[in-house]
Amino acid sequence: LFTALRAAWPATLDDAAILTEAGRYTWSDLDRGSAMLANLLQSLHLQGVDGRPPVVAAHVDKSVESLLLYLATLRAGCVYLPLNPAYRAAELEYFVQDAQPAVLVCRPDDQEWVIPLAGHGQVEHLFTLGTDRCGSLLSHASLYGDEQEPVARRADDLAAILYTSGTTGRSKGAMLTHGNLLSNARTLLRHWDWRHDDCLVHALPIFHIHGLFVASHCALLSGTPMRWLNAFSPAAVLAQLTDTAAPQATVFMGVPTMYGRLLAHDGLNAEATAGMRLFVSGSAPLLPAAFSAFAARTGHTILERYGMSETGMLCSNPCRAREGERIAGTVGRPLPGVGVRIVDDAGQPLGTGEPGHVEVRGPNVFIGYLGMPDKTAEAFTADGWFRTGDVGRIDEQGRVHLVGRAKDLIISGGFNVYPAEVESHIDRLPGVVESAVIGLPHPDFGEGVVAVIVAETGSTPDEATVITALKASIANFKVPKRVIVVDELPRNAMGKVQKNLLRQAHDGVFT
Ligand code: ATP
Ligand code: MG
Repeated sequence: LFTALRAAWPATLDDAAILTEAGRYTWSDLDRGSAMLANLLQSLHLQGVDGRPPVVAAHVDKSVESLLLYLATLRAGCVYLPLNPAYRAAELEYFVQDAQPAVLVCRPDDQEWVIPLAGHGQVEHLFTLGTDRCGSLLSHASLYGDEQEPVARRADDLAAILYTSGTTGRSKGAMLTHGNLLSNARTLLRHWDWRHDDCLVHALPIFHIHGLFVASHCALLSGTPMRWLNAFSPAAVLAQLTDTAAPQATVFMGVPTMYGRLLAHDGLNAEATAGMRLFVSGSAPLLPAAFSAFAARTGHTILERYGMSETGMLCSNPCRAREGERIAGTVGRPLPGVGVRIVDDAGQPLGTGEPGHVEVRGPNVFIGYLGMPDKTAEAFTADGWFRTGDVGRIDEQGRVHLVGRAKDLIISGGFNVYPAEVESHIDRLPGVVESAVIGLPHPDFGEGVVAVIVAETGSTPDEATVITALKASIANFKVPKRVIVVDELPRNAMGKVQKNLLRQAHDGVFT
């Protein structure tokens, strides 16, 4: 993977590769910096566990140097494990026990509580890395040479362990190979029509597939520059879009919450986005209202795509106009080389338009969950398809519509209720910003449908009005029996609504 990325970088290497608010990194800086870090890793003679190459875990804030650590890990033939720096001791302990990294890099401020925890696992070396190039990792790496021959790796060798977001239960470590990552990145460059003069605004965290692989790989595998933000803010993103210095920003990738925050900023308009070619959204459903509002304000239609830690990207709305329109509420067609099928509970294929389990296959699909052979076995069908855990349908034009996760599916009085369908009706009601529909234990129906709603400021949609309005548009069994108004929905770092928390919070509503 590293060799493929490196081959795409401009031959002269002195062009800007990454522009931060503080300065710029050339391609040569990326090459030399990652070489020094790789030399440091190789000098440690690390031991892998269970026949896997050694794991390098990064529990650090986002910085260009943390991206260099990722590249260095690939160069040294090790396995990269990014972790959300928000995790505290109990959470980090789980990942360290589970993945048994040989190297752990943490924030300088966290070192005190990480040291004892590292001692319990297999961690052989603990380094620190801060956002301003401070910490022991870089001071050690500075003692090494800036040339390094990347360790040869094959397509089916392990490259990274990516923990799922833990939306439906405990995070699982998805084992991804060099071939998984490279094939998906190549597909995205072609499908999203990446150009030699593109410049990505990188504002996503890099402990997750979206920022680390989808975003960074597009730039690194095309040798095009990134405008880099260590943290997202609408003002900082808009400043990048409107900066007249070269390179002009052309692509932005974000989660729906980021689009919501951009829309809430006065500076978002057609003029500010005039130089942009592509806005991509994913990781959680984009509200059709946000899609329309963005188009009205900027003239750009957001391209929504669908993917997951285990598989990389699976489906995407079209990029080129001749391939059709981008349509709100759908995640588009399967990407080239990716198979998507919809099956019922018994695994039988379903017809057009019928909702069922989404199963996928392709060179992008992972090799299994770390240390969880049972979960891995459950996740694959006998004929080798991966069960995504999502429920969706495919329309006549071949577009995939997600209707919820299998674990969030509600069975009320024997009828299936798809949360996303009910949510889309609620979100259209006056005074409603967004909603989450969940099933809660009900003495008669097994599960009762409950809507948790966020109201627009100044409006107070009440239960009776919402229920009456919904009865006019959807079948009675889908209409929520209770409507709860909250200030905001609980979301995790990637902007995903945590329905398990909502279910816990409102557990006794019917009992
Ligand atoms: P866990 O598997 O631990 O419960 P998770 O599934 O949220 O967590 P990720 O791999 O980060 O962890 O997220 C993948 C999931 O995100 C998909 O299975 C899907 O449910 C959701 N998702 C991704 N993109 C979209 C999208 N465009 N629209 C709706 N849902 C999406
Ligand atoms: Mg998942």
